[in-house]
Amino acid sequence: MNVSNKMGVYVQVPFCQTKCTYCNFHTGVFSRSLYAPYVEAVCREIRERRAMHGARVDTVYVGGGTPSLLEPADLARILAAIRERSGAEWEEATLEADPETITAEKASAWRSAGVNRISMGVQSFDDTELRAAGRMHRREDVYRAIGFLRGAGFDNVSMDLIAGLAHQTQQSWKRSVDELIALRPEHVSVYLLEVDEGSRLGKEILKGGQRYNAAEVPSDDEMADFYERACETLARAGYEHYEISNWALPARSSKHNLKYWRREAYLGFGAGAHSFNGAKRWSNLHDPAAYTAAIRSGGAAIEQEEAVTRAQALDEEFFLGLRELAGIDLARIEREYGASMDARVTKLIGSGLLERDGDRIRLNAERLTISNEAFVELMG
Ligand code: SF4
Repeated sequence: MNVSNKMGVYVQVPFCQTKCTYCNFHTGVFSRSLYAPYVEAVCREIRERRAMHGARVDTVYVGGGTPSLLEPADLARILAAIRERSGAEWEEATLEADPETITAEKASAWRSAGVNRISMGVQSFDDTELRAAGRMHRREDVYRAIGFLRGAGFDNVSMDLIAGLAHQTQQSWKRSVDELIALRPEHVSVYLLEVDEGSRLGKEILKGGQRYNAAEVPSDDEMADFYERACETLARAGYEHYEISNWALPARSSKHNLKYWRREAYLGFGAGAHSFNGAKRWSNLHDPAAYTAAIRSGGAAIEQEEAVTRAQALDEEFFLGLRELAGIDLARIEREYGASMDARVTKLIGSGLLERDGDRIRLNAERLTISNEAFVELMG
């Protein structure tokens, strides 16, 4: 693990108003009556986790799901529990928010509670695409929401887009990227639609069906093309491409997410949340009701725990570290792991995936759209 005595905290809020067709997260539509006991359980888990006592928490990330559905007072309770245990004030506290859930009142309550960064799930500026994806918001909601956020004083806002939504065309994609840039968010994420068994849409595409507008989903080549166009347009607009899926204006990269790629420590709270302390990774029960019941009864909510072997840690240095476009420092890795990386690096450079610059290796900028699978295979 890279040496750092600071720690990130992730809080999972798995509640959504509806299930988007492409969603492959462990989230769902639950009765609102579960929200308050769930928040209570999260606060208790934070207070009782020994590793939190006196920890120097410099980043907080409240994700989901749709955490902006929570009552602001509930969110404030969670943040207060973190502050109470860790003492120090964080540098960055991000809240994921869906456009239709953002109001002027909520935005100002979030700021008062200590949130200083919002990650907004925009996905597209095209209502046909949003409707087909099962999203609750429409283009107009994004404009309204950014007004409320700026009005409340948020000067660090991230917006997500998805390349590959049903009905997306070259023109509609260009419009979405242009409209997003015109709003000048400090940070941008572009994700490619994931087609797998984990989502309703993914299953339908895999079996060649028509439901959920599956037949209208762009081809892999079109998606790759959308991504490349976004790379060019964002670069021209002054955004630095710092991670495969992420761009930022100067000094606005996500401090919390950098911890994942740099293998720094973080503690996760809530249903399905993951934690990492350098030596092991563990995760909580995924079902929110089961998680809440386990914490309430005074037990731990851990579902899975795995020690990270030296070989796994070394693999992670590559497949996590190389997500950052600045690449990884081979000299540091060779020093920390006491092994020569020559054979592995020669293979990766030979594949055309990587380029070398002194002690640094990084992904070849021309090959960023290659699938994760090909990447992982080459890591072996
Ligand atoms: S994509 Fe986001 S908002 Fe939609 S169901 Fe999944 S977690 Fe919820």
